[in-house]
Amino acid sequence: MSDDADLKTDVLVIGGGIMGCSAAYFLARAGVDVLLIDRHDLNTQGSGTNAGSIHVQIISRFFKSTDPLWVRGRAALLPLLKEAVSFWQRFAPELDDDVELRIGGGLMVAENETELRVLESKVAVERAQGVNSELLDRKQLEKLAPYLAPSVLGAELCPLEGKVNPIRATPAIARGAVRAGARIRRGVTLHSLNTDKSWFEAVTSIGRIRARRVVNAAGPWCNEVAAMVGLSIPLERHARNMSATEPVEPFVMHLIQHADQRLTLKQVSNGNLLLGGGWPAVIDPASGRANVIRTGISGGLWIATHVVPRIRHLRLIRAWSGILFFTPDGNPVLGEAPGVPGFFNAVGPNAGYTGGPLCGKLVAEAVTGQPLSFDVRSFDLQRFESRAA
Ligand SMILES: Cc1cc2nc3c(=O)[nH]c(=O)nc-3n(C[C@H](O)[C@H](O)[C@H](O)COP(=O)(O)OP(=O)(O)OC[C@H]3O[C@@H](n4cnc5c(N)ncnc54)[C@H](O)[C@@H]3O)c2cc1C
Repeated sequence: MSDDADLKTDVLVIGGGIMGCSAAYFLARAGVDVLLIDRHDLNTQGSGTNAGSIHVQIISRFFKSTDPLWVRGRAALLPLLKEAVSFWQRFAPELDDDVELRIGGGLMVAENETELRVLESKVAVERAQGVNSELLDRKQLEKLAPYLAPSVLGAELCPLEGKVNPIRATPAIARGAVRAGARIRRGVTLHSLNTDKSWFEAVTSIGRIRARRVVNAAGPWCNEVAAMVGLSIPLERHARNMSATEPVEPFVMHLIQHADQRLTLKQVSNGNLLLGGGWPAVIDPASGRANVIRTGISGGLWIATHVVPRIRHLRLIRAWSGILFFTPDGNPVLGEAPGVPGFFNAVGPNAGYTGGPLCGKLVAEAVTGQPLSFDVRSFDLQRFESRAA
């Protein structure tokens, strides 16, 4: 696009990650005039640095949390993630690339009786929300996942879990959005937003953009964009580490997690094993970028080689880090903001890549005034305001 000083659009989307690109895709497909801006390139933040795990079952450290917000939040999140997986399965074939979506099941392993009991009660909570997870014993695991260490006594199997390739998926969604008529401008920073109730005026690094409606898909920085119109989205920002081994022939068929340790492990289509699970990285205060730290790499390697011993013989070829965020209950913030007509939040859940396309679609439905295909009332911003009050 040329650098025209006075841009005008019906809907301005802030953020070119999975949320912003998905919202732009579904808005453009609905015939809406949409302009997406990102201060960097597309897919360079959380969406392009994540592990590509398709998550449904509750991550064990979140399950153990006794914070009532997390306890209530996870009951609302399970049906959303379940729907998000089936949405990915319908959506991926629409895209112009193989995004390597594979739903082969996820195993959360336990190495002692305490961990097994945690998984047992987690299965009960998940089944009550319609997720068909089950507990497997050692014998069943030997058949299903012979690559697991002998120390693994049992595991929770969630058949809805799997993987997707974020490096292919977000750009494919962005291309689809452009084909449907969306405009995308990279390297454009939003500095401030003014509104007179019928129009928004966005002050950006390339000048002013006028828009009737705004979608806040700024991921870990969504609170800064919300603050521009006087809203508060409570969140914590963290940096997380990822590592990859050299590629080898396929032998790990599932998404692997641990009942008491930070671990996600999967083998991607070209044979690399990706190691993640929330090992810390650091945010450089000067640049705002995430930097890898040694303990993030060594911690991830320690637990991965412990659970899948064959990894010990592989070379680590790459480590990187990215920034993610948590709202106080780990859940998304979706829909039109209270008191700011025309301002829509598209803020994903903690498994934000899993939930991205569905949440983007739901926000597009809200913007265009269509009936929502999934009930998002428990994901409004007011839930945090009433807590603060
Ligand atoms: C290491 C790591 C591993 C993860 N693993 C998984 C996983 O396995 N499975 C899963 O489901 N989720 C995972 N996640 C979470 C997931 O990646 C994120 O929840 C999701 O990608 C967030 O998408 P987003 O579009 O909301 O935000 P982002 O992808 O972060 O995009 C936000 C965009 O907004 C732009 N922006 C911000 N402020 C402005 C501004 N003022 N002006 C212009 N542009 C702006 C940014 O430049 C950025 O491109 C992981 C995250 C990390 C970091």
